[in-house]
Order: sequence, then structure tokens, then C-alpha cells
Amino acid sequence: MQDQDVVVIGAGAAGLFCAATAAARGRSVTVLDHAKKVGRKILMSGGGRCNFTNMYTSHENFICDNPHFTKSALSQYTQWDFIGLVNDYGIAYHEKTLGQLFCDDSAKQIVSLLMSECAKHQVTVTTACEILTINKHEKGYHLSTSKGQYSCESLVIATGGLSMPKLGATPFGYQIAEQFGMQVTPTRAALVPFTLHTHDKDVLAELSGVSVEAATTCANTRFNEGILFTHRGLSGPAVLQISSYWEAGDTVEIDLLPSLDLTVELNRAQTQQPNVQLSTVLSTWFPRRLIAQLLGYFEIENKPMKQYQGKQLEHIANQFKAWQLKPNGTEGYRTAEVTLGGVNTDHFSSKTMEAKDHKGLFFIGEVLDVTGWLGGYNFQWAWSSGYVAGQVA
Ligand SMILES: Cc1cc2nc3c(=O)[nH]c(=O)nc-3n(C[C@H](O)[C@H](O)[C@H](O)COP(=O)(O)OP(=O)(O)OC[C@H]3O[C@@H](n4cnc5c(N)ncnc54)[C@H](O)[C@@H]3O)c2cc1C
Repeated sequence: MQDQDVVVIGAGAAGLFCAATAAARGRSVTVLDHAKKVGRKILMSGGGRCNFTNMYTSHENFICDNPHFTKSALSQYTQWDFIGLVNDYGIAYHEKTLGQLFCDDSAKQIVSLLMSECAKHQVTVTTACEILTINKHEKGYHLSTSKGQYSCESLVIATGGLSMPKLGATPFGYQIAEQFGMQVTPTRAALVPFTLHTHDKDVLAELSGVSVEAATTCANTRFNEGILFTHRGLSGPAVLQISSYWEAGDTVEIDLLPSLDLTVELNRAQTQQPNVQLSTVLSTWFPRRLIAQLLGYFEIENKPMKQYQGKQLEHIANQFKAWQLKPNGTEGYRTAEVTLGGVNTDHFSSKTMEAKDHKGLFFIGEVLDVTGWLGGYNFQWAWSSGYVAGQVA
């Protein structure tokens, strides 16, 4: 039997950061993970460069049944605190767009940072370890694992969400929550590409590889970023973002020219270039390949501008500015970056992540019903929630 002050299950972003934080207070800490390697999602993240935080992080960048839940942790350990740590390790980084900070070199540097922090404070990290049972006793928790028995005063569940099962994702955290009488809000894949109905897919697959700036709107939420046509459907940041707000059956509105009043522009073109074809006018703003395909898809006849009536121009502008697209579904957990939903935050103190009804039991990171937008917010939640739990676990 190994006696520890703290056992953390899950050697991902939140678990490793929490372990190092608790150990820095002098606590004896062991991290257990069933995977052979630690931090696998970090290594894959940001195209291998890890978008480790966002300079503009606020509670408004998170989806959670309780919109106030993230406030305390995010203010106790901010994006600037993590940026400070990244600076201490001499890791070079850059802002890609919209406050998103990426390593210049490699996501491996973030895993090394976490492992160095763990090593500095004598955290034991045990991989390839299956957790068999967890039981509560009067002084804490008892774990039976494939690598022996553990007893601890504080138990931290940091097993993440369901996205990318190939990287080690399991529903383990939800099962433990249920074992301790907690509710799990329904989960589904988020930050995920859309798949399309057959007709849409057949026409739009021809555009595979084309990307444009666009705004996506669903459930009163709008994102103004890029969209990317793929051979399976639609992806790109504005699509991934809106997928977190989309429910099966919903229509997504896509504005393919968010910064322009297209009706005004088309009317102007009609006056100034009456003999020019519509497709030529549209090529001012779109790649020609996209125009050819979309005119057919929207059933718009291509002819000289003078041949359109005012109402027709308005209709054409509306097709491009308020394209009503009904996705067939999403690519699911296989490619999703995160899981929407999770362990209901009502069961926890927002200041410490400790369960209200189970002293010494903590849930942190993505396993909770906290889902960040695309752009480094999910890692910031891992750092902030891991830190506050590590302060008291
Ligand atoms: C491809 C991809 C790219 C991403 N890019 C970014 C990005 O650039 N920026 C950003 O902010 N977010 C990004 N994310 C999201 C981010 O990776 C997660 O939100 C974050 O890793 C969550 O941290 P976590 O510690 O809660 O969970 P995880 O990092 O998923 O860690 C959970 C750990 O628990 C372990 N585990 C699971 N089940 C068990 C079990 N039964 N027993 C023992 N151990 C178990 C897993 O092996 C894993 O090591 C990306 C996600 C993916 C999939």
C-alpha cells in the first residue's frame, strides 16, 4: 500500500499542473495514467505547437450550465500567470491571431515544462496504470490499480473528456462522478467539423481545400473567422466554434462576406459595370472556383449585371450573406477537440474544485461541464482549475 497525500488520476494538462502545484506546497503527490505517455493531447494540440493560452481569456469564453463557475479559478490563476511560467522556461511563442499564443517551436516544450515542474517537487508519475476501484474511507480514498494499492487524503480526477479516444480518452471521470452520486450533463462532440447531407456534400466537396473569411451564426451566437471546405463537409475556426452551439437539426447561417454590404456593392456594380458578368464582379471578393460552384449551388444564373432586377440582386446578396445550411451532423469524437457537457459543476466549490459532499475529492479540467472556445481557452481552464485544486488538495 502506497500512502500519499494526493493522488491525481490523469497525466494530461490539468492533472500534471495540479500535481506540481500541490507538491510545491510540500504534499506527497502521485499521478496515475492508463496511457503509456503523458500529455498526449498537448503534444497533438495547435498543430504540434500548442495554443497554450489566450491573452483575452475571460469567463465569457466558456460554455457551462453555470456561467459564473469559471470566474474564481480564472482569476486566481490567470493567462498572465501561465505566460509568466512559459517565460521562466525560456519557451519562445507568438500570437497567431485573436490573442492565441502558440509555441514557436513545439508543443513538446509545454509537456517538458509540466514534467520539469513535477520533477522539481518530487511528484511521482506512473503511466500504463489501470485504475480498478476507488473507495472512500474515513481519512480519504483507497485505490486499487494494476500497479498496486494507493491510499490518499485527497483524490483529484483529471481524466479529461471523450474526444479522440485514440489519444487515451475514456468516460472514466463520468463513471467516478456517478459512483459518488454526482450528475453528468449530457455530453457531445464540440469544436468539431460538420458533415453534410448528400446533395450539399456532393456539390461542396468540389471546393475541398478552399478557405474564406466568414461569420457563422447559430443559437444567437456568432463567430467571425475562417471557414474551410473539406471533402467531408465544412471545417475551419468559424465552423469549429459554432459547432459547440449547434444541436442536431439546427440550421447554421453563414455570412460569406461579413465585412461588406453585398446588396450595395452589387447595385453599384450594376450602375458602373453594366456589361460585366456577375461572376466577374463576385471575383473581387471570392476565388473563382468558389463562385463557379456556389452560383450553381444557389441556383443563380450568371449573366451581365444589367440583366438583373433590383430584387434579384438583393436575393443574390442574401444567398451569400445569409446562407442557410443544415448540417447532417458532426465528425464526432474521432476529430473533435473537446467534449461539451461533463460533470455538473453544481457539485463543486468554484474556488477550489472540491466536491461539496465529498471532502478531499476534486474534479478539474475538461471532465467538468466547462468547454472553452477554440483559441487556447481549454488549456487555460486546465491550468486555472488545476492550480486552484493544487492549492488545497
Ligand atoms: C487534437 C487536439 C488539439 C487541441 N488543441 C488545443 C489547443 O491548441 N489549445 C487548447 O486550449 N486546447 C486544445 N485542445 C483541447 C485540450 O487538449 C483539452 O481541453 C485539454 O487537454 C484538457 O485537459 P485535461 O487535463 O482535462 O484532459 P487531458 O489532457 O485529455 O488529459 C486526461 C488524461 O487522463 C488520462 N485518462 C483518461 N482516462 C483514464 C483512465 N480511465 N485511467 C487513467 N487515466 C485516464 C488520459 O490518458 C490523459 O492523459 C485540443 C484537443 C485536441 C484533441
